[in-house]
Amino acid sequence: MKKNLLAISLIILAGCGTTQQTTVDHNTLRRPKNIVLLIGDGMGLTQISAGLYANNNRLNIERFPVIGLHKAYSANDLITDSAAGATAFACGKKTYNGAIGVNTDTLPIPNILEQAELHGMATGLIATSTIVHATPAAFIAHNKLRQNYEDIATDFLKTDIDYFVGGGEQFFNKRKLDSRDLIQELKAKGYTVSDYHQNDLDKIVLNKNMKFGFFTADEDPPTAGQGRDYLPLASDKGVRYLQRRSDVGYFMMIEGSQIDWGGHANNTQYIINEMLDFDQAIGRVLDLAEKDGQTLVIVTADHECGGFSINYGSKMGKIEGKFTTDGHTGDLVPVFAYGPGAELFSGIYENTAIYDKMVQLLGLNVSN
Ligand code: MG
Ligand code: ZN
Repeated sequence: MKKNLLAISLIILAGCGTTQQTTVDHNTLRRPKNIVLLIGDGMGLTQISAGLYANNNRLNIERFPVIGLHKAYSANDLITDSAAGATAFACGKKTYNGAIGVNTDTLPIPNILEQAELHGMATGLIATSTIVHATPAAFIAHNKLRQNYEDIATDFLKTDIDYFVGGGEQFFNKRKLDSRDLIQELKAKGYTVSDYHQNDLDKIVLNKNMKFGFFTADEDPPTAGQGRDYLPLASDKGVRYLQRRSDVGYFMMIEGSQIDWGGHANNTQYIINEMLDFDQAIGRVLDLAEKDGQTLVIVTADHECGGFSINYGSKMGKIEGKFTTDGHTGDLVPVFAYGPGAELFSGIYENTAIYDKMVQLLGLNVSN
């Protein structure tokens, strides 16, 4: 029986010769209750390879059964930036470099976090940059320019996000734009907001009726090699908290922000340290997803950074990296998926298709 089905699907594939849509049976497609989207900023295939070979040939990212590639270009440049890249994932539209959750006419477009909230789902954001930096910003804010950090911070008050962790506290409480104290305003809205302490994370799992914001730095958090270690734990505790927060399900975006900064710095060890930190977070999320069986886990990047390559002279455990640029590149970007609906993520597709697939799988039928 199975063999016959396989033969039929192979014939269909050969007959059409097109996309992965022909191989996915939408009648039997399982839908996830929850989605965790992990974005390694600037994480191309070489960044993953460097982390792998620097780590005794083992990464958690090897645990994913489904792998695809996305086309990362933006609306105005073959080489995307993180703002347009994240807006494609968050809102499903290609836009111009620098845009945060707005289209090419600078008009706001709904993001998946807002749509998940309307649907009754719990939501979370974690980053190892400031929480108003381009990648997390595109999931919560709408702004024509990514550098408008204080404006972006005010957009946190317009949502009902349940849990966020990242740097950039100064954009909330030491503002130049106005004299608002957004931390007091968040508290007035029912949030528990504090500087990040590891011990605080234990209480969030037990307090599903509360909302939490944790600031890990006034500006950018330190690098993974210099005392920053919160990403795996904040991811683990965040998932456990969001699981209990809503019966409908949850959406969370977790960013390994500084893999990209290692690329900009043309610093192989920086990339490897950040890659391994991000991979630990991936492992913690996968462990929990395997237990609950209802969570789709997607790992991807917005773009590659550095034109990074592993050159001759490299050995297992010692990577000789070379770079072609201190900026981003236009390579296809890998996508890894695990859990209900993961099969939709095989093949080659636009970066905006990641949004389309997530919205389809969660049944968030909102037109925009
Ligand atoms: Mg980023
Ligand atoms: Zn970058």
